[in-house]
Amino acid sequence: MPELPEVETIVRTLWPRLAGRKIQGVSLRRADVIFPDRVNLAGMLVGRSLADIRRRGKKIVFALTDGNRFYIHLGMTGRLSLQLAHTPPAPHTHLILRLDGREIRFSDPRRFGGVFWLGKNGSADEGLGPEPLKMRRTQLARLLRRTTRAIKSALLDQSLIAGLGNIYADESLFAAGIHPSMPANKLSARQIARLSRGMKQVLRRALRHRGSTLRDYRDADGNAGDFQKLHRVYRRAGMPCVVCKTAVRRIVISGRSTHFCPKCQT
Ligand SMILES: [Zn+2]
Repeated sequence: MPELPEVETIVRTLWPRLAGRKIQGVSLRRADVIFPDRVNLAGMLVGRSLADIRRRGKKIVFALTDGNRFYIHLGMTGRLSLQLAHTPPAPHTHLILRLDGREIRFSDPRRFGGVFWLGKNGSADEGLGPEPLKMRRTQLARLLRRTTRAIKSALLDQSLIAGLGNIYADESLFAAGIHPSMPANKLSARQIARLSRGMKQVLRRALRHRGSTLRDYRDADGNAGDFQKLHRVYRRAGMPCVVCKTAVRRIVISGRSTHFCPKCQT
């Protein structure tokens, strides 16, 4: 599933090419990827120009020059790509926005993602906590004090912190030396400081490496990321810890596969 670094990389590959471009046509191949389903997307988009594309959490938010906005969520297997109009669309392409000569295509084989209309008044912030790269240590401390859940589950809760998923939650906890099943409200001030720093370091490094490609993720140009080569615990169960050589362990926390070093993370 694309997380903050992958979604941000998609936005960075899309926006410079699309700034100010006019949407000339909309082809909707599956109406059930649009929410709410009564929205006439073609009617709202054709003839409008793109004023902005930005990331909020894992959402890709499009703003039009008429003040309307919508966002795309990639779910598990969604992809957003920018392609020449004459190249045949990939299977499971549900929505195509035509801009002169090029097309933005949204494909999603498993359809956990979708296109969400916000209009002029809807907020892309709904259901989302603060952005981890802009969050101060004191703010993180305040948020974590509110929950007794395992820190791993708290980091995955988009309403607490927006943008982390399984990969970057595991990698952040390794960077901070914190055991993933520790109750969030039991973290010491020192641990919170390490987590605040570790989370930002991991996300910034992942951004520099254009995200992690395990299977589906590609940026808007179709290129894979390469941060997966630098994962230190994620999907490395049984392999030696890069710091202490102890075997990395895999456990399940609230239904999510979790990877950690039993010696470095206490
Ligand atoms: Zn270790």
